Amino acid sequence: MIQPYQFNLIEEQIFQLVRTYQSVNDPQTIQTIEGMTKDVVVRQFNPQDDQALLIINEMFQRGLSIKKAEAHLSDLKTYVEPFPAPTIKQTEKLFRKVKKLKVPDFDDFDLQETTYLAWDDIGSQSKYLIATENEGYTAVHGHLSTEVKKGICPICQHESNVSMFLSLTKSSGDGTYTKRGNYICRDSQRCNQQLTDQAHLAEFLKLVKMKEN
Ligand SMILES: [Zn+2]
Repeated sequence: MIQPYQFNLIEEQIFQLVRTYQSVNDPQTIQTIEGMTKDVVVRQFNPQDDQALLIINEMFQRGLSIKKAEAHLSDLKTYVEPFPAPTIKQTEKLFRKVKKLKVPDFDDFDLQETTYLAWDDIGSQSKYLIATENEGYTAVHGHLSTEVKKGICPICQHESNVSMFLSLTKSSGDGTYTKRGNYICRDSQRCNQQLTDQAHLAEFLKLVKMKEN
């Protein structure tokens, strides 16, 4: 089984492969790129995921089109482990300082495309984020500015429509509150679809939470 962000990475790699097949003529160059792509893709699986690896192997053919790649990737999606959605009780506990927390129905989310769970509360202009950490969860929330601009999102590392996410965190020393602002993807669903490396998400959460405790 693979994680949603690993699936995104594979998809990105495969689409690059299609572009190589379509634009490169030199067989040596194609072979080199095929080798590098296969390395990255295969590394995402356990050796016992042999059925998934069969699907991968079928994609490494010169005639691969975007349409064919999409069909294979759709078969591969059955190997993606969905995000383990917390219960309402667990969610309330994660945001216990928030008054009148509105917990959405996580069944409405595509959890196979979710590396971190996020939703907006339009009324209070807030964004809530939940990620897995060790055997449990880690969560942050903050104010989301209505201003939208183009920028690189620190979570998915893609150029996106970003807005200022301002979390209120308590500084460790004197007990005063400091505001930490970061421009992140306004659309968290899109951010999740663009996320190919879990490390950036972990780094972002660490940064936001750094002074919280
Ligand atoms: Zn993003």
